[in-house]
Amino acid sequence: MLELKQCPVCRGSGDWYTDRGEYKIFRCAECTLLYTSPVPDAEELAALYRDEWSVPAGQTYRHRNRPTRAWRLSLRAKKLRRLVSGDSLLEIGCGPGDFLRGARLAGFTRIAGVEPGDGEAEYTRNLGFAVHNQMFLEVDFADTRFDVIVSRQVIEHVLDPVAFLGAATALLRPGGCIMLETPCSSHFKARRAGKDWRYLWPPWHLNLFNEKSFAALFYRCGLEPVSFRRHIRKTYITAIARLASA
Ligand SMILES: [Zn+2]
Repeated sequence: MLELKQCPVCRGSGDWYTDRGEYKIFRCAECTLLYTSPVPDAEELAALYRDEWSVPAGQTYRHRNRPTRAWRLSLRAKKLRRLVSGDSLLEIGCGPGDFLRGARLAGFTRIAGVEPGDGEAEYTRNLGFAVHNQMFLEVDFADTRFDVIVSRQVIEHVLDPVAFLGAATALLRPGGCIMLETPCSSHFKARRAGKDWRYLWPPWHLNLFNEKSFAALFYRCGLEPVSFRRHIRKTYITAIARLASA
């Protein structure tokens, strides 16, 4: 376990917010990120996910492959398609490939996914997508670059959001966009729940963002915020940022 002395996004100081068992949750006084300390180290975290989270390869992976879901996600992929000039897309944490199917419907042609879960990766490969069955930071992309990178419900899980988004930014083509979706700590449902908010859920959720903490994260990674959208029914925020054109 590692003790965090400062906010992992902006390096500001944190105030104790609440506890969850052995974990403390702090709120950054600068960017308002809710972050966990202590955190498991990378090996401990990988072991937790291996043992408790993913579906092993070869085991029947049950996923309701609803065409309406891919179609609905294709509307969001179309908006991203209009923001960039090219047609390549990478999803980090593609799970069973719903968004990748939406991206295909939206006209993206060079599509890839990263998915550490063996069962999910196998399922998505069988849909015809190129999937790296690894942790994102371990994938060797050589000189492949993307117009759009999407990551949904992942950044709240990562140990170091700056390292994660920095590595993603390095894979963007100039002018490319990143879309992140994650639970929103300023959502009215989160504020209503306060310290009982169910997304305060270490060690699975380590960092919880809002517009302000996203802006700090984008700044540190050299990205320009494009838009923030809070969802209504789900307690999520979708943030889009762009890498400046060369
Ligand atoms: Zn901060």
